[in-house]
Amino acid sequence: RSFDEYQLSEEIKRALSLMKYEMPTEVQGEVIPLAMKKEDLVVKSQTGSGKTAAFGIPICEMMNWEERKPQALILTPTRELAVQVREDIANIGRFKRIKAMAVYGKEPFSKQKEELKQRNHVVVGTPGRVLDHMERETLALDDINYLVIDEADEMLNMGFINAVEAIIKALPANRVTMVFSATLPKDVENLCHKYMENPKHIEP
Ligand code: AMP
Repeated sequence: RSFDEYQLSEEIKRALSLMKYEMPTEVQGEVIPLAMKKEDLVVKSQTGSGKTAAFGIPICEMMNWEERKPQALILTPTRELAVQVREDIANIGRFKRIKAMAVYGKEPFSKQKEELKQRNHVVVGTPGRVLDHMERETLALDDINYLVIDEADEMLNMGFINAVEAIIKALPANRVTMVFSATLPKDVENLCHKYMENPKHIEP
């Protein structure tokens, strides 16, 4: 397997090489080609498998730099994960000058509100704070083409189901949705069934 198989731009390839990502991991090998074809995906994946770049690479590849409103939304169960994912996306997209921002609770709303006025291609956040920005209209969701629900099982265990559903309902219908989860309990399966279109299941 090689990253050369996926017709990635020079900017993304240069970033991967700087990050010392020489070969795609198993989950990346499965996810990247399907994500580039805009398939909805349910991916069973553990932390450490390279799952962040599995969605981060195709998302950075698809971002249109000119667009001023966010084009990708990534939901994570925790602030720590949001910060980590934001950093990975920023690294992968550095030579495309992709701007990614993280929103999460326990940081002043007003600071995030100001940052959300800038150009952001990707927004990574925890469901509660994303919903908060959505309701106060400080986060525009009408140009979101990509939704990732990362660690979906953890997110539902933490009681975020209502926030997640409210967010999904506010997103454009013609989007690509990718769900990543270490386990696939009934509530995760239900969520996928309800809000995804013929998702392909990947269990590397
Ligand atoms: P994750 O599962 O996304 O938390 O990634 C686990 C670790 O693997 C992180 O430190 C990544 O930087 C690293 N990683 C992800 N993809 C690759 C790759 N293709 N080659 C080498 N390291 C990678």
